[in-house]
Amino acid sequence: VSWYRYALIVGVLALAAAGAVALYSRTPAEVRAAVPPPDATDPVHGARFGEEQIARHAAFRAPSYLAFLFAALLPIAAALLLARGPFSALARRAEALPGGWPVHAAVLALAITVLLAVVALPLQYVRGFAMQQAWGLSTQDSAAWFLDQARGLLVAGVIAIVSAVAFFGVVRAAPRTWWLWGWGTFSLLTVLLVFLYPVAIAPLFNRFTPLEDPSLVARIKAFGEAVGVPIDEVQVSDASKRTTAENAYVAGLGATKRMVLYDTLVESNPEDEIAFVAAHELGHRAENHVVKGVLISSLGLLAGFAALYLLARNGALWRWGGAPGVADVRALPLLLAFLLVSTLVLLPLENALSRRFESRADAIALELTGDPDPAVRAFRGLAFKNIADLDPPGPIVWTLFTHPPIPERIRSFLSAPP
Ligand SMILES: [Zn+2]
Repeated sequence: VSWYRYALIVGVLALAAAGAVALYSRTPAEVRAAVPPPDATDPVHGARFGEEQIARHAAFRAPSYLAFLFAALLPIAAALLLARGPFSALARRAEALPGGWPVHAAVLALAITVLLAVVALPLQYVRGFAMQQAWGLSTQDSAAWFLDQARGLLVAGVIAIVSAVAFFGVVRAAPRTWWLWGWGTFSLLTVLLVFLYPVAIAPLFNRFTPLEDPSLVARIKAFGEAVGVPIDEVQVSDASKRTTAENAYVAGLGATKRMVLYDTLVESNPEDEIAFVAAHELGHRAENHVVKGVLISSLGLLAGFAALYLLARNGALWRWGGAPGVADVRALPLLLAFLLVSTLVLLPLENALSRRFESRADAIALELTGDPDPAVRAFRGLAFKNIADLDPPGPIVWTLFTHPPIPERIRSFLSAPP
């Protein structure tokens, strides 16, 4: 495959994927603009939502599942095609640079990252910007959105360079046991990334301020005491500069541990509902879900490195991909394809664990707050504001859902023993 044919094939695929999602997501303006009935969050409705609401949310969500599929397959296709020709020309140029293999690996990793970002851009624009605009979720203009993409690319580029240099370093230093050393090295890099995320990456995208509301802060601190995880500060992010969606999360390890609430959540909900969401995040903290997540990622890395070790013995495979073997920088596109495929294969497993963590955090939040009413109100509210899928197909839940569907979460609040 020449560069010219590569650009043609991948360009057509990228535009076709974006176009298909754009067409599929077309929904009449009156459906998109529909507002929920005034009693939408009344707990008396329990986990029941109207037919019209279910259909409206499905009209928003179904195209995003198709977009996910394309967004997963497109870079795999782009990486495999790259391995089948155009990459060798790029590698020859990189290898002319002084500095040896670390420089060559870094330059080529950065080049692939930029290339894949360009390939992903049309689809990303449709699902990350145009659809969000059409459904009233986005509060950004396109310039701000493109700036976000550039920031994202910067982060991805640094991660790609560090990963490529670490990988080839390990493979070259330990030609027989590299899979074990690779597993250890990348597990440590995962820990480092989770540790650095709140202090080095999140601030590139958002500003964080301490939660001001004294009575809410006091309530959250009391919950923290009750589950044995003292909270010194709750942070509020300026999510409203991008979205109207509401959310909260816990992040970081050790000294960088923190709880973050979206300003969209804090500014438009009654205190007992925000307190419930904060109690859910405390549930994650109390159960050490961030640490458990890192350990699970490390198990995934072990499986990945073991599989790669077995594949590395198959010389014909790497020659097909334009490289003499796994230790050569020319193997980068094939290594990337392997990474993307294995991430995809492990996704259902990872999401099943994530959904268990979420159910556990919900149960702890209900124990802490002691009243299902604000929980049901809060989740009905989130369902409407975030246009959540109210009746997702089972296979979609098993593969893509990091949280149980909202009606299921509401049912668990209602069926919990008082
Ligand atoms: Zn959660």
